[in-house]
Amino acid sequence: MVNFYGVELKTEKNIVLNKYDALLVIDMQNDFLPGGSMPVEGGDSIIKDINDVIEIFVDGIVVHSQDWHPPNHLSFASNHPNKNPGDEFNSKDGAIGPILWPDHCVENTYGARFHKKVNTKMINKIIQKGMNPEIDSYSAFLENDKKTETGLREYLNSFNIKRIFICGLALDYCCYNTAMDGVNFNFETFFMIDLTKGIDEPPGNITNSLKKMSTNGIKFATKNSLKIW
Ligand SMILES: [Zn+2]
Repeated sequence: MVNFYGVELKTEKNIVLNKYDALLVIDMQNDFLPGGSMPVEGGDSIIKDINDVIEIFVDGIVVHSQDWHPPNHLSFASNHPNKNPGDEFNSKDGAIGPILWPDHCVENTYGARFHKKVNTKMINKIIQKGMNPEIDSYSAFLENDKKTETGLREYLNSFNIKRIFICGLALDYCCYNTAMDGVNFNFETFFMIDLTKGIDEPPGNITNSLKKMSTNGIKFATKNSLKIW
């Protein structure tokens, strides 16, 4: 057991990787890293270990997701009158919210690019998400309407992927939602707790996310859980 953000989690050991495994690297983009428009604290501290893990996925599949918004995206506080980043906002269908964000990851801008230190040489597939101005997409599988698929499930199924390993940013939004959808889609889902950092907005969101994942069949692992040779 490890204590992570105050939650006791059992971590898996001696995982031997195979060709039916996929590593999902979530949103390692300039705007989510220090210097960006909505940096996740400590986000840069996980880059080296993520790169190390990417290198050992030689037999499996490496997918990077990329938040990719039009400038008029309704998750941006700037697109609502009298709203500020962090303000609560819930569209009736859950497509936007529970809070509004600063402008970030606008398509074809520097902020939307993968951070230059992140290993992108082994990418098998990039899944872009959040392109519909009226629907946000935290999960790499499903937009926030929880109906529209991004294509990730179909892609993974085309390679007969059985297990997914999730790392990246941010723990309590895009990584969490990707993990919850992944397990619902019947992938054996491993959440890499030392390869992610959270936002914790609203406060307590990180511990709530960890508790929900642990009660929904998601397994927890660290870089050291992966047996390389
Ligand atoms: Zn976004």
